[in-house]
Amino acid sequence: MTSLDRFKPPSDDRPYVAECEWCRGEIRAGDEVKRIDDGGGYVHNGFGFDCAGKYADERVYDAMGTINIRGEID
Ligand SMILES: [Zn+2]
Repeated sequence: MTSLDRFKPPSDDRPYVAECEWCRGEIRAGDEVKRIDDGGGYVHNGFGFDCAGKYADERVYDAMGTINIRGEID
């Protein structure tokens, strides 16, 4: 057996543990995640994934823009 025979790509054989609540992609053991406080579930929070941020934006905020003097978003 050579060293090449033992080489494995880093992401192939890590066990599947959950489905991301934002992108519906696989979450595997070793992934960086955030856990959702109500209802459970996990979202990706690793490098190159902004599932946690996008999920929070959608659930927490219902408008975005510049606030005016009446306290409304234009
Ligand atoms: Zn995700």
